[in-house]
Amino acid sequence: MSLFLTFEGLDFSGKSTQVRRLADRLRLARREVLVLREPGGTPVGEAIRTILLDRSNASLTPSAELFLFSASRAQLVEQVIRPALAAGTVVVCDRFVDSTTAYQGGGHGIDAEVIAAVNRSATGGLEPHMTFFLDLPDDERHRRQVAASVERDRMESNSTEFYARVRRAFLELAEHESRFKRLDGLRSETDLADEIWNTIEPELQRHGARI
Ligand code: ADP
Repeated sequence: MSLFLTFEGLDFSGKSTQVRRLADRLRLARREVLVLREPGGTPVGEAIRTILLDRSNASLTPSAELFLFSASRAQLVEQVIRPALAAGTVVVCDRFVDSTTAYQGGGHGIDAEVIAAVNRSATGGLEPHMTFFLDLPDDERHRRQVAASVERDRMESNSTEFYARVRRAFLELAEHESRFKRLDGLRSETDLADEIWNTIEPELQRHGARI
């Protein structure tokens, strides 16, 4: 199997910036690479994404949210991620199962055992080889959100306390999961990109991704 890499963190932590930089480097190194984002990545997943981000769905319950994210993930794993990995492609995903643990578990307080069972079912047990967690203090997250001055979607409209719980859940994962690598999101884009690349390069050899 090839290499499966995921990026986690709060919105505006720099995930998509690092995903883009990593994909560029992988292509320069002549690797087949597939970039995905959650929720989405399949026709069903994109339809679910629209529901999840739509601000007019403010009444969506945490439990409904859990199943919608997980339904999108189940489609993505089965239809896209597993076949790509089997073909030797490096798969880079912006958010994956740990976002559910952090947002629906840590943020919304859904029982950890329920989260674990739903996550297992959605992924069929597929785990990333490595997960990069871009950690950012809330004031900087807020500053970047204001600077971006885009209208907030439903998922970006939570309270400061909610984000604090989500961040704590990510930090806990980083402490207990060996595949997790916490990165200080305050560092420069190029610094972060270099560290990520230096971490991944030896793994590329080990996992025999297709050249
Ligand atoms: P995410 O995908 O996690 O929401 P983005 O990659 O879109 O985050 O970045 C959010 C904002 O922060 C963008 O305006 C981006 O230019 C900026 N940004 C990304 N990485 C850094 C960094 N290391 N330092 C400062 N600003 C950054």
